[in-house]
Amino acid sequence: MVDFLIQHGIVVTMDPQRRIIENGAVAIEGDKIVAVGKTEKVKKEYSSAGRVFDASRMIIMPGLIDCHVHLAQALIRGCADDVSLVEWLRERVWPLQGHYSKEDGKISALLCMLEMIKSGTVCFVESMLHTRYGFDGIAEAVRQSGMRAVLSKTVMDTVGYGTQEAIMHEGMIETREQSLNEAVQMIRKWNGEADGRIHVWFGPRTPGGCSPELYREVSQLAKEYHTGITMHLAEVKEDVKYTKKEFNLLPVEFAKSVDLLGPNVLLAHAVWLTSKEIRMLAKSNTKVCHCPASNMKLASGIAKVHEMLQAGVTVSLGCDGGPSNNCYDMIREMKLAALLHKVHSLDPLVMPAESVIEMATTNGVESIGLSNEIGAIMPGRKADIILIDLKKPHLTPLHNPISHLVYAANGSDVDTVIVNGKIIMENQEVKTIDEKWVMKEAQKRGLAITQKSGITIKSRWPLNKAASQNRVSNI
Ligand SMILES: [Zn+2]
Repeated sequence: MVDFLIQHGIVVTMDPQRRIIENGAVAIEGDKIVAVGKTEKVKKEYSSAGRVFDASRMIIMPGLIDCHVHLAQALIRGCADDVSLVEWLRERVWPLQGHYSKEDGKISALLCMLEMIKSGTVCFVESMLHTRYGFDGIAEAVRQSGMRAVLSKTVMDTVGYGTQEAIMHEGMIETREQSLNEAVQMIRKWNGEADGRIHVWFGPRTPGGCSPELYREVSQLAKEYHTGITMHLAEVKEDVKYTKKEFNLLPVEFAKSVDLLGPNVLLAHAVWLTSKEIRMLAKSNTKVCHCPASNMKLASGIAKVHEMLQAGVTVSLGCDGGPSNNCYDMIREMKLAALLHKVHSLDPLVMPAESVIEMATTNGVESIGLSNEIGAIMPGRKADIILIDLKKPHLTPLHNPISHLVYAANGSDVDTVIVNGKIIMENQEVKTIDEKWVMKEAQKRGLAITQKSGITIKSRWPLNKAASQNRVSNI
């Protein structure tokens, strides 16, 4: 007798052989997968189950891993479109986030998690939680949601960003002591909580936001607490200019100089790297999270993902945030990743659908040190599984489930989500979060934040050629 038997589906196992099992079944007992194989065979072994799911014309696969998320930015989606990066950050994102209350932070996290669950993400890496968003409330929200998460506490001791012209909004500023102490406290309090679903990391700001001494201290503390570090690096060209000017080093060389390369370090973006830096990442087993939508929308550049993968760097995928993406849907992100690198290299062979699915699953779990726990449908792994419904016009006829997953499916095709052996969404209904209530609160709080920060969002029409050339904003 097992708790769940999911049968008659197409199991995309993501096991080392990358087996795809037609008319397959998965048996789950407690929080673990106990059997996977042809339905007939698994049913022989486990003739009775607490619940039986019919997954006919559905894909059964490991849940998706989003390796770069800003939970707090879900409330300011659509507030910073089509502006230059400095304006995006200094005049929109920072002032808006600088007006958050802890309750706003929690509602934004719940909203973001709703969207992630509904589009098949089971685990994510939050890269920078500032004190004002309320770490405790957000960790509680993760516990409630049933998701798996890495929550990284912002660490900083400098108010700039790269160049001195971008000074952080006062509402976002934390001192070295505050930010570091809270990070350590939160690691002690939350790491391993919620049945092991919550992990707490350090989230130092981008070079320019932390002193070299602080980075070294973070690296040391991460070793002491056996935890990870995530940081934005070389997202835009200016980031390279900054480390060159200030330290006469390329971004990855700078990271090495402050002891920030290693298997427990996950770098977001890593767009502007040289081949030498890519080799340094591979050699040190430093991980990279690629965020194609964000890089395209902010015109940051195109990361050398193919070269990184060829060099042996573990590259995962991330949606980034509400103002830079503007959605938290990994299925969309997979398609963007596949298409972006084809057109950039003028080579349709360069980023096959299979590679992109690996980035969203196996590479993701490797990036957060959970390779032996999740990321594949195999006996002994935790049951973090999603069911994708193929009974849709845009997914018919079915020739190749891998093709449909990357090139034709949407996040809204996800039907059921199981994390740690618990159903958190079934028939597209999220069981752990009150969706209507969260949307109502989010609408109210999102508008209040724009009012408090004095930012009005309106249409750009009528388009004025001269104005757009001068980059006059719509605020
Ligand atoms: Zn980011």
